[in-house]
Amino acid sequence: MKKAIVLLVVLFSLNVSAQQDSEQDSLNLRKIYDLALLQGKSYDWLDHLSNKIGGRLSGSVNAQRAVDYTKAELENLGLDRVWLQPVMVPKWTRGNPEYAYIQTQGGPTNTVNILALGGSVATPDAGLRAKVLEVQGIEQLEHYGRKEIEGKIIFYNRPMRADLIHTFEAYGGCVDQRYSGAAEAAKYGAAGVIVRSLTHKIDDHPHTGSMSYGELPVNKRIPAAAISTKDAEYLSSMLKLNPDLDFYYKMNPRNFEDVESFNVIGEIKGSERPDEIIVVGGHLDSWDVGDGAHDDGAGVVQSMEVVRLFKEAGIRPKRTIRVVLFMNEENGLRGGNKYAEVAKKNKENHIFALESDAGGFTPRGFSIDARESQFQKIKSWEPLFKPYLVHYFEKGGSGADISPLKNGSTVLAGLRPDSQRYFDYHHAATDTFDAVNKRELELGAATMASFIYLVDKYGFDDIKNEADILK
Ligand SMILES: [Zn+2]
Repeated sequence: MKKAIVLLVVLFSLNVSAQQDSEQDSLNLRKIYDLALLQGKSYDWLDHLSNKIGGRLSGSVNAQRAVDYTKAELENLGLDRVWLQPVMVPKWTRGNPEYAYIQTQGGPTNTVNILALGGSVATPDAGLRAKVLEVQGIEQLEHYGRKEIEGKIIFYNRPMRADLIHTFEAYGGCVDQRYSGAAEAAKYGAAGVIVRSLTHKIDDHPHTGSMSYGELPVNKRIPAAAISTKDAEYLSSMLKLNPDLDFYYKMNPRNFEDVESFNVIGEIKGSERPDEIIVVGGHLDSWDVGDGAHDDGAGVVQSMEVVRLFKEAGIRPKRTIRVVLFMNEENGLRGGNKYAEVAKKNKENHIFALESDAGGFTPRGFSIDARESQFQKIKSWEPLFKPYLVHYFEKGGSGADISPLKNGSTVLAGLRPDSQRYFDYHHAATDTFDAVNKRELELGAATMASFIYLVDKYGFDDIKNEADILK
């Protein structure tokens, strides 16, 4: 009987303390959102990155200016430590603007909008003129074979699927054309490739992005460009009328030797468990067209805002919270790889990493790469986000820059904003500051800070040894 009473008292007090925790958490989340929406700093930072600096391609002067600026701003926040982590990055330049047209036999020419893909070689000095073969994907090359492909420009025109609700899935279903299209077509003797831009929107803006020649020797590499969706449709309809038309393009990019750049890092030391590290980050580099406001200026300033919000709200974290602004996500992932390499070498214990690299749109929730028990713990926090209309907590990928930290115990997560408009801007000249909504950006920052607040408070200790238990 006595035992039963003791048990009841224990259960009751556990329940009371859980309830108090939950009330405290609600209040702290409210405080974080209030600070982000009423006195946020992320939008001003993004204004500077976009309008005072602009596109920040790895190895460029602008990328270095972004390093200097964000380092100085982190220092202004009064963090415990701010430093630069050196990393060698590829340097590729676009050179003079591209030029392209379609020409029917002896007839008029119609200019079309193209952008060299990142990493592409230049066309010959006089440009490249050839017949065009339209395909719906790499897998069709085999069907045509060398006989039909040699000397031609391969036109990859498989569009992103419109019926997929998650637009990143639609992107994933097409990106092989951009990334490997040139390397594959070159194997059949193609003279060049043009790739339909990866967007649902039908407009005049080509979308660039990284591509790779794989193991292809330098003298076998062929020029690769993205064509706007409107011009892709136009070219396709022209080809139906006249399969013998000529396509001409001239591009002037250059590849240089690697240059030194930096990841920008700042941290608040944990008050109780400084050796347990929580990372929040985005990537500082962007493509050269547009300002890289959504990709990934938004993720950068939101991550900076997370540590600022902790300071402003007077929340002293138990664990170390580290903001990492990664260099070179777009065309190499060197910053992400370097960060993980140094973390491993220094035997650092990363319990959690969160990346924002899906645009500065209304936050819906998080995609979580974790073991089941860790995931269930995160799921239990879901009700706290209800007032902010944040409800998406699903298992899935996290972010490219933090993915090298994956080791089976570190929990990885990616902010998941609404994705319907992201590919309107992604890697195009339209990815500018005015395309980012201030409130949406700030809600994203507050959502990230709230998630990190909960991870810091509760950690994943009680499930740390799950792997051992399973053995
Ligand atoms: Zn990105």
